[in-house]
Amino acid sequence: MKKTVVFVLSILLLFSMSASFFAIAADAPKITGSEVKGAPGDTVTVSFSISGNTGFLGMQSEFVYDSNVLTLKSVNYTKLFGNGFADTKSENISDNPYSFNIDGMDASDANGQLVVLDYEIIKKAADGTYDVTMNISKFINGDAEKIAVDSAVAKITVEAPSTAHEHKWDDGKVTKEPTCGAEGEKTYECECGEKKIEKIPATGEHKFGDWVVVQEASEADGLKERECSVCHTKETEVIKGNGGLPPTESGTTTTKPTTTTKPTTTTEKDTGKTTTKPSKSGGIPRTGDAGVSLAVAAVVAAMSVAGVTIVMKKRNDD
Ligand SMILES: [Zn+2]
Ligand SMILES: [Zn+2]
Repeated sequence: MKKTVVFVLSILLLFSMSASFFAIAADAPKITGSEVKGAPGDTVTVSFSISGNTGFLGMQSEFVYDSNVLTLKSVNYTKLFGNGFADTKSENISDNPYSFNIDGMDASDANGQLVVLDYEIIKKAADGTYDVTMNISKFINGDAEKIAVDSAVAKITVEAPSTAHEHKWDDGKVTKEPTCGAEGEKTYECECGEKKIEKIPATGEHKFGDWVVVQEASEADGLKERECSVCHTKETEVIKGNGGLPPTESGTTTTKPTTTTKPTTTTEKDTGKTTTKPSKSGGIPRTGDAGVSLAVAAVVAAMSVAGVTIVMKKRNDD
């Protein structure tokens, strides 16, 4: 602190003796910033260098940057002018502008890298070029004159990796079991966190309960039915009657019912495979339809009796 006070006082003293407050500096040095590229999440280093330096005693400067994109991690003087001076910086690394001063040094005409700053590019940074500006509020040349030195700009170009990330999916796991009637889901995950879902086809394998007799077989065929406990698909099967009536010679027996209801599901005896064919009329027999079946069966039974009578009569006529 004492050094700073001495420095300021000595400058003021020199200025009071000087004809003009600002020297016309045709030989002002130039400060330039570097340019770097980085991806979101990277830490990059930018630097500011001095050239055309004919003499330098001290300076006051600050760095300004976009805090929404960049996080300042460190500021380091490069010891271009040796160690015989004090560099004072902002107390907090998060300060923006961040001040950086050099004073109390012997005049030096060294050129080169002056200061180095590390910035972390925030992960959500959008692609683009972001400036880090070094404003020089005071520059004292070798003659202890305050001269104007242009601001310098370092550029950080943020670029998300251009090569599109190719997902590497894991083996996946079943996140929704398929049923006979509904599709399931299998979820795959990439290490990047992205997920994809694939459909698993419905199994079609119904979980049928026990057969329930809808209509007992007598002379006429009966009917039984079973229902899938998952999707409630119904399957019906004819129960053969106890012989019924033998066909007549002429084979004109019209009395023997072929079916009592139109089965929505037929069972292939050979393979035991079950195929479901919904009838076009949408007439999948519900439990409530059993009465209809019974009625039909009753009519058929009545017809068969009548048919037998007719056939027998015909025979008698022969
Ligand atoms: Zn991925
Ligand atoms: Zn089912």
